Amino acid sequence: MSAPPRSSPARQPALREHNLALVLGEIVASGPASRARVAASTGLTKATVSTLVDTLVAGGLLRESGPHPAGGVGRPGTDLVLAPGPVGIGLEINVDYVAVCTVDLAGMVCRHDLVARDLRSLGVRGALDCAADVLRAAVRAAGDAARVVGASPAEAVTGICVAVPGLVDGRRGLLRLAPNLAWRDVPVLDELRRRLVPAVDVPVVDVPVVDVPVDHPGRMPMRLDNEANLAALGELWAGGHTRPDGTPLRSFLHVSGEIGVGAAVVLDGGLFVGLRGFGGEIGHLPLDPSGRSCPCGASGCLEQYAGQEAILRRAGLDRPPRTSAGRPDGPIEELVRRAGEGDPAVLDAVTEAGHALGVAISVAVNLVDVDTVLLDGIYARLARWMREPVEAELAARVLSAAWDPVRVVVGALGSDAAVRGAATRAVRSVIEDPAAWLGRVRPLTP
Ligand SMILES: [Zn+2]
Repeated sequence: MSAPPRSSPARQPALREHNLALVLGEIVASGPASRARVAASTGLTKATVSTLVDTLVAGGLLRESGPHPAGGVGRPGTDLVLAPGPVGIGLEINVDYVAVCTVDLAGMVCRHDLVARDLRSLGVRGALDCAADVLRAAVRAAGDAARVVGASPAEAVTGICVAVPGLVDGRRGLLRLAPNLAWRDVPVLDELRRRLVPAVDVPVVDVPVVDVPVDHPGRMPMRLDNEANLAALGELWAGGHTRPDGTPLRSFLHVSGEIGVGAAVVLDGGLFVGLRGFGGEIGHLPLDPSGRSCPCGASGCLEQYAGQEAILRRAGLDRPPRTSAGRPDGPIEELVRRAGEGDPAVLDAVTEAGHALGVAISVAVNLVDVDTVLLDGIYARLARWMREPVEAELAARVLSAAWDPVRVVVGALGSDAAVRGAATRAVRSVIEDPAAWLGRVRPLTP
């Protein structure tokens, strides 16, 4: 996991908060280091680094390891390492599964569970009961793991980030619309909090605010976001993608197909979500205004030509759609198997979907000017057959492709991308702003 870009000490009133993040970010980015090395690489004085490190150690974010010989000469030294206690928890509520993932400060996955249930048949209340059970188990496990390493269970969880397949009002923790779950205006965070609070030691924050520092002492922040956004962030932070020159990939269009088709734009390491966070609905980009009607109320949307159901129907595998994560033995497995065997109907269906997808992606690329497209979800599974038609449409329709072809890359995390991105987002909030975390778990010394 890369650290936030912080290249020099600040000279402002928020100096201490900035420098706390600078020191913690250095350990996250470069691994264990002595105080002297942190001072050298951050440009801070050794005395300042020592004071900041003491605060981060007291706040349960860093530990001292050692002592060990300092280069064979002189006094034994100690290295600063990330504390093993605090973790971020990601929860994904999807059409036919609930997944949970726990990630530590170093970005390592500590726990990953998936419960396959058809949430549509459970109704909103039953589905949220199921999601809360999965989340409760993860929170308890994080508390138990903290005790094992000598950390306080009250400081075990940096936050919870919930991924849902629909339009999200992050400030209210509200899922506005999820067509494939048939949910409308569901206060997901309130409902989870209500189910969770009696069961855990730590009360949960009462104002779910996205991208605003949460300053409620002793409380656990919760966020709600769209699965496509979080999947893109998962690939950004944990996918290990690089550009042709070997530098990390920081700008791309992420397109993921499951039952719906979602997209997210990442520009220079940040998510572009639009004014209200409703951007990225590539699945409802009109390919044929007089075409097949779509559950969204419009007609001829991309999902009707490149969504999972459309591909299965055209391939003659018309079954109730299941996500590839919720049903790993489901119709997508059969589709992939038959494509591998050269079944003409399946290859025709996948190729047609690839052309439709390529047309839609070319519209997005002409609009936002990215040079890399990441295919994820079922498109990653079908990339062997879909890449060529997608690339053909991009070459023909993206104006800049004549001198700078658009790269098509297959996602690295598959169906885990959204829950991994959610967990990483929950832990990165502390790495980017350790002062807010320290203020929550214990008052900062003046
Ligand atoms: Zn539509």
